[in-house]
Amino acid sequence: MNKKGRVFSGARPTGRQHLGNYLGAVQNYVKLQDEYECIYCIVDVHALTTMETTKDLKSNSLEMALDWLAAGVRPEDTIIFIQSHVPEVMELHTMLSMVTPLGKLTDLPTFKEKVREQPNNVNYGLVGYPVLMAADILLYKANFVPVGVDQAPHIEFTREVARSFNFRYGKNVLVEPQMKVTEVPKVLGIDGQQKMGKSLNNHIEIASSPEETQARVMQMVTDPARIKRSDPGNPDVCNVFSMHKIFSSREDVEMVNVECRRAGIGCVDCKKLYAKNLNEHLAPLRERRTKLADDPQAIWDILDHGAQQARTIARQTMQEVRDAIGLP
Ligand code: SF4
Repeated sequence: MNKKGRVFSGARPTGRQHLGNYLGAVQNYVKLQDEYECIYCIVDVHALTTMETTKDLKSNSLEMALDWLAAGVRPEDTIIFIQSHVPEVMELHTMLSMVTPLGKLTDLPTFKEKVREQPNNVNYGLVGYPVLMAADILLYKANFVPVGVDQAPHIEFTREVARSFNFRYGKNVLVEPQMKVTEVPKVLGIDGQQKMGKSLNNHIEIASSPEETQARVMQMVTDPARIKRSDPGNPDVCNVFSMHKIFSSREDVEMVNVECRRAGIGCVDCKKLYAKNLNEHLAPLRERRTKLADDPQAIWDILDHGAQQARTIARQTMQEVRDAIGLP
């Protein structure tokens, strides 16, 4: 392996990806492949801890894989698979749960938050969620996990679990992963207030048509102090301008920055320009996606092949884990 090490990342099957997912994770997935051996997992079992219904689980997994592949995740270089297709993760989860104090799990802020969010569904899986997450990472002996700074405690937890296991059984079987801190831009939804998310219906899907994209962009909230077309605006407080900075050319960004402040451009035209630039940026991705979506079986085949590759690593790790524990 000439690469710098192994990267693991998992994401819940949330279906079609929106701009927040794209800028926060998917683009990074694509970049990391050049330097690292990457394993990307659609964590369907994790999703069960909070899901009310599983009816869209399969289609959401497929849609997400489609977006990843269309964005440039390369199955010839990267392992991409569905978590439940490698059942060894459940076995490692059980083994790791024996070295994890219960109090540590119930004290975690994420657990407390979930208890508040779904008081009628505080299931056993929810308590063990971080252990399953640790199992995901440790099963594949990942060296790095790309995370935003806010997720640092999860990786620290995983490192502690690995240390506890290795110490308890006196063997250096599990690899303590390092955080690969990634700059995750805070992408606001079209409401301009909250983080972009499907549950808030403030999102723009990367696979939308150009027309749908433009319609969503036209709903974006702008500088609230700019009431009339003749009012000068302040791009520094406007989410449309933040997105221009990501998807528009330097010339367009500079023009909006100047013209908005002297009411030389109206918000309607400014949004149309952003929608045009966004659609141009996403056009190649959408073209690839349309072709890929023509043959869903080929996507399932990619995911099956990925699961086989992942399982080869997983079986080896589990053999070492069982030997270390001394299971008969
Ligand atoms: Fe925002 Fe553009 Fe309107 Fe200025 S002109 S307030 S940057 S949408």
